[in-house]
Amino acid sequence: MATVLIIGAGGVGRVVTHKCVMNSDTFTKVVLASRRLQSCRTIAEELPDGAVEIEQVDADNTDETAALIEKVGADIVINVALPYQDLSIMDACVKAGVDYLDTANYEHPDEAKFEYKEQWARDDTFKEAGIMGLLGSGFDPGVTNVFCAYAQKHYFDEIHTIDILDCNAGDHGYPFATNFNPEINLREVSAKGRYWEAGEWKETEPMQIHMTWDYPEIGPKESYLLYHEEMESLVKHIKGLKRIRFFMTFGESYLMHMKALENVGMLGIEPVEHQGCKIVPIEFLKTLLPDPASLGPRTKGKTNIGIVAEGIKDGKKRKIYLYQVSDHEKCYAEVKSQAVSYTTGVPAMIGAKLMLEKKWYRPGVWNMEQFDPDPFMEELNVQGLPWKIRELEA
Ligand code: NDP
Repeated sequence: MATVLIIGAGGVGRVVTHKCVMNSDTFTKVVLASRRLQSCRTIAEELPDGAVEIEQVDADNTDETAALIEKVGADIVINVALPYQDLSIMDACVKAGVDYLDTANYEHPDEAKFEYKEQWARDDTFKEAGIMGLLGSGFDPGVTNVFCAYAQKHYFDEIHTIDILDCNAGDHGYPFATNFNPEINLREVSAKGRYWEAGEWKETEPMQIHMTWDYPEIGPKESYLLYHEEMESLVKHIKGLKRIRFFMTFGESYLMHMKALENVGMLGIEPVEHQGCKIVPIEFLKTLLPDPASLGPRTKGKTNIGIVAEGIKDGKKRKIYLYQVSDHEKCYAEVKSQAVSYTTGVPAMIGAKLMLEKKWYRPGVWNMEQFDPDPFMEELNVQGLPWKIRELEA
C-alpha cells in the first residue's frame, strides 16, 4: 500500500523499523535512512533479508533529504532522528510533497528550549502543499495526548485538572545512564520545572515539586514535576482545563549523578576550550555514557505512563486514571529494544498507519489530541501497548 521512509537509526528507529515490517499490509516498502549507514545496517540485519532498504542521509540538509524522499518514492516520512532535525525534515517533506510525522518537538541545538512555535508556523505551508504533519506521535508526547482526548470524549463533559505520570522502574545495572539520547534527556531534566494553572505558566526550580505516587504493577515512587512538551498543545485543546502538570520518577542514584555532573559543568551546551580544541561538555558526556541502545539486553522491570484526569460528568465530579504498563524484557524479546524506545516507536508506527489508512488525515500541522482517539486506542491494544482505565474517588 505505501512506502515509508524512517529517518534516524537509533533506539526508537529500531522499534519503528521492526514494527513497520510487522505491519507489511500497510507498509509495503520500508526504507531506513540515517547519518551513518552502519546504524541502518545493524537494524536491517535483525530483520529478514530484503525486508528493509537502507540509505545514508544528513537530515540537517533539506535538499539532500528531499532528494532521498523522491528517490525512494516515500509516501510518508517518520522522523525519529533528533529534535534538531525536525524543521529541516519538515521542509524536505514540503519540497517533496509527502506527509510527515515525528515524536519530539523542535529544539535548537544552541538553546536548551523546546516549543512547537516553529513547527506550528509551518501549518499554512503544509496546507498549501496538501500534506499532513503529525507532531509528537511517541508516548509522551503522543499516547498521553491521545489518553487526554479519550478521557474528554468518553468520560467527561469538562476536564479540570490533568496530571501526566511517567514512571520508568527499569534497572540496567549501571550507576548512571540515560534510557534515550543522553543529550536530549539531560537537557529536559536539568531545566526549570513549569506547569500551567489558571491560564498561565508557573515556573519552579528543577525538581522543586515532588510527590509519591503508587504506580500500578510497580509500587510507590517519588515523582518530580518537570516541563514537558505535550502540555503546550493540551492547554489549547482540552475543554475547561484549569491545571495541567507533568511528573516523572527518578531514582536516587540518577539524581545524585545528575546534580554532580551539573555542578561541575558537564551538562553545559556552550563549547569550552580544551587543549586547543573546542568541546561541548554535554556532547562529550554523551560519548562517555553507555549507548542507550546497549541498555536493552540489561534492563529489567517495568514502565508505567498515564494520566489522572479530574472533572465533571453529568453534573457530578469524576476522576479517572488511564495508564499503560510495559515490561523492558518483553519489549527486548520482541524487537531488541528496551521499553522506553518501544513505547515511543510503537505509537510512531501507529500514527503513520492511521495517516496512510486516512483514518487520521487532514492537510496541515496537527497535534495528536486533535484527532478522534478511538482508532489510535484500538491500535495500542493490538500493537503491543495495552492500556487500562480505573475510576478513582473524586
Ligand atoms: P538516538 O540518539 O538513539 O537516535 C537518533 C538517531 O538519529 C541516531 O541513530 C543518529 O544517527 C540519527 N541522526 C542524528 N542526526 C542525524 C542527521 N543529521 N541525519 C540523519 N540522522 C541523524 O535517539 P532515540 O532513538 O532515543 O530518540 C529518537 C527521537 O525520539 C528523539 O527525537 C527523541 O527526542 C524522541 N523520543 C521521544 C519520546 C516520546 O515519548 N515522545 C521518548 C523518547 C525519545 P546515526 O546513528 O546514523 O549517527
